[in-house]
Amino acid sequence: MSASSEDSCELSVGYVETCVDRWKLDSRFFPSKVGGYPAWLDFNIPDAEDLKCRKCGNPCIFLCQVYAPIEEQENCFHRTIFIFLCLSPDCCENNTNVNLKVFRCQLPRKNAFYPYDPPVYEENWCKEICASTYCKLCIVCGCKSTSHCAKCKKANYCSRQHQVSDWKAGHKEVCEVYAESNVVVAKSELLLPEFELLVGAEAGSSDSSSSSPSDEENGEETSTSVDKVEATFQGNSQVDEDLLRMARSEQSDDRTFHHFKKCTNRHPRQVLRYDRGGEPLWIASVADPLTVPPCQYCGADRKFEFQILPQLLNHLGLDSCERSVDWGTLAVFTCAASCDMGPPYKAEFVWKQDLS
Ligand SMILES: [Zn+2]
Ligand SMILES: [Zn+2]
Ligand SMILES: [Zn+2]
Ligand SMILES: [Zn+2]
Repeated sequence: MSASSEDSCELSVGYVETCVDRWKLDSRFFPSKVGGYPAWLDFNIPDAEDLKCRKCGNPCIFLCQVYAPIEEQENCFHRTIFIFLCLSPDCCENNTNVNLKVFRCQLPRKNAFYPYDPPVYEENWCKEICASTYCKLCIVCGCKSTSHCAKCKKANYCSRQHQVSDWKAGHKEVCEVYAESNVVVAKSELLLPEFELLVGAEAGSSDSSSSSPSDEENGEETSTSVDKVEATFQGNSQVDEDLLRMARSEQSDDRTFHHFKKCTNRHPRQVLRYDRGGEPLWIASVADPLTVPPCQYCGADRKFEFQILPQLLNHLGLDSCERSVDWGTLAVFTCAASCDMGPPYKAEFVWKQDLS
């Protein structure tokens, strides 16, 4: 357990699991999940505009959500953090966040959508508690729709892009059927594979992810690259300081990566590390410290909450040799006060760190 920060909670790690009972991932059961449609918490969901990639303008697709209530705060009895991602490899630049969106959503125990008492884990329990009871959802991505198919008037879309992709995926074959019926089958071509995300305390570990690699390791395994360069330039009056500096930063990258591997290898299946108020486990060293902007609603500082590991890419089929979206780690920072100001879905800060 980390003692570095008073309000730092114990480190938890998350694993993905195929969910046999799909209904358990519905909003009414407050799931943590990866892929598929988002399981919205507050049903006043974001506008399509809020989910557009800042690089290409196409809609971002749901990546994952983490249910993370804060016990001490009445307004955070239910609380979920959502991440959305642009699937275009062209928008996936190193060490940036242009292709990502993260939102925090929270509700008190007594709220407009869910019963006061805990859910009953039965498939048919309170099925009407879902976003589509309150608004029309895009059949392709599960986000708020802005238009519908002019012919059948049944299939709703968040954007022109998703209407086009649905048409290509075979809507023209079912359009007439839809026009006659009330059953509209969800499309999943664009969605990421769906999993339940199980989050729990990192068993049997007393480590602190917040310790920097240099605290823990003396760099025995990683001292080689600088040594080599320094040996090469020994006694040379024309030592290229830049090259040395480069080698040193490479060395510290090695050490950071080594530390990252060591911490994540303890439980190799983990795809998420949750440590609100702790420190992210970086995969590479950074020349300039990351500047995390304060909460845009209340002005409080943002603090680290959780990170997604590159291991998740394997489960999403994004680890192929072909060029695809990827990341070293996705670190999410949220309002330290977890304030109630702003819209129901409050934009928070995410940083994508890459190995290179
Ligand atoms: Zn994009
Ligand atoms: Zn859509
Ligand atoms: Zn249609
Ligand atoms: Zn705030």
